[in-house]
Amino acid sequence: MPERQWLAAAAFIATIAADGATAQVQLDTLSLRASTFFLAHDLLQGRATGTTGADIAAAYIASECRALGLMPIGDSYVHPVPLEESTVEPGTQLVVRRANQEARFSFPTDLTPDVGTRSTLVDFAGPAVFVGPVSELHLELLRELDLRGAVAVTAGARVSAEAAQTLRQLGAVGIVHLLGDESGYALYRRSRGATRLYHADSAVRSSFAPVIPSVLAGPRLSYAVVSGTALERGEPLAPGPLGRELEFRIELNTRAVDAANVVCLLPGKDALVSDTVIAFAAHYDHLGVGLPDSSGDAIYNGFSDNAAGVAMLLAIAQAMVQDSHSQLRHSLLFLFPVGEERGLLGSDYYVSKPVWPLERTRAILNIDAGAPPGLLVSWRLAGVDSSGLGGLAVSAAASRGWTATTSPARANSDYFPFVREGVPGVLVIPGAEPYEGLTADSSAALRKRWDLYHRPGDHWTEDFPFAGLARYAEYAYLIGAAVDTSSAPIPRPPRR
Ligand SMILES: [Zn+2]
Repeated sequence: MPERQWLAAAAFIATIAADGATAQVQLDTLSLRASTFFLAHDLLQGRATGTTGADIAAAYIASECRALGLMPIGDSYVHPVPLEESTVEPGTQLVVRRANQEARFSFPTDLTPDVGTRSTLVDFAGPAVFVGPVSELHLELLRELDLRGAVAVTAGARVSAEAAQTLRQLGAVGIVHLLGDESGYALYRRSRGATRLYHADSAVRSSFAPVIPSVLAGPRLSYAVVSGTALERGEPLAPGPLGRELEFRIELNTRAVDAANVVCLLPGKDALVSDTVIAFAAHYDHLGVGLPDSSGDAIYNGFSDNAAGVAMLLAIAQAMVQDSHSQLRHSLLFLFPVGEERGLLGSDYYVSKPVWPLERTRAILNIDAGAPPGLLVSWRLAGVDSSGLGGLAVSAAASRGWTATTSPARANSDYFPFVREGVPGVLVIPGAEPYEGLTADSSAALRKRWDLYHRPGDHWTEDFPFAGLARYAEYAYLIGAAVDTSSAPIPRPPRR
């Protein structure tokens, strides 16, 4: 392509072997620069889900997909994700009753409802039963308690998904998390804020919100719940009834919120398997406008999280389209979920109403782990072990002399809902080894210089080393190519 030769200095050339033939893959750092520049621009106001900035980002991604010749599925690249936003009102209260005494505590000074859904942001009331500290909840032990109609009280924040499920099955009506120290509570109070965003359709399962109404209690309320028990004195307390009644009343102001995922398709060339897709995912939403930093900047631009991921997916799509030697067998589906930062809303919605059947989704490869400022030679793969998809990804790394380690799936990005529904999925994460050609010290300095996770300073800058993004995209590309070329079925994780 002579007209693109001027790109050669900036383009990263990788060689892959596909079907025995050697193909050249170009991952274009100029397009990585351009798309991140736009997506992380102040004009998009941090791309918060449900805002115009996020809608502009979605329109931009759709137009890039159109320019690349990718196809929509159905009549649009943009797929609505209907949400609701509830603002917790100051009338929200928790009453503690013991003998004839009654004490009232209010949001947000003394309590904060945890993230929730339409079915868990609700009132509850019942006798308080201590179920143990959150770090030591044993499911077998819980089953020995009578929790029917009870409010489960635990020390510390956030129980595991399994524990929340067990508590609900045992008949608990809600959870109260005791947070005894002011700074710990302040952290949750600030991060949860007053708004809750969730699916308008309560049948859509949430990967992130607890399945049972949950309240975070500040120190004053916490002491009222345990006063007179060993826990008040900081001593261990055996699980059991606390001898008081708790009554939680929530007041919400609710409105509908429009959001959307963007989905683009590159059809495969092998008629036998092109009805099956290999999915790539990178969320495009970020945190929007929030608390200003010391420089007064209040726009959370999300350059590395996850304008970079979106740009990498577009660069992968571009490379796949431009590669004239491509013998792509399966179709590729590029998914750009919304609402990741608000609890995997876009990907949870997608798996509940898939745009392409999940049974014909061979794997999902997720990019959402920041913008590495150097050439990676090591990786972490979340969601897999060293067999199946993980094995293909580990071999793809080894083929370039890189290393990759594996770890189980967690609800930390958009691959998770897919894994939960039985689709093999992996989140590709930069590893800790020094960057290629750099000492451990200079790598560490680079990492520190560019570590701006969830801060307003995470914006686009001219001098960011974009070759790091090209390397990250290249690895995701290689995994995709390996998943495409391999003829073996990929074992599917159990649905949960
Ligand atoms: Zn992210």
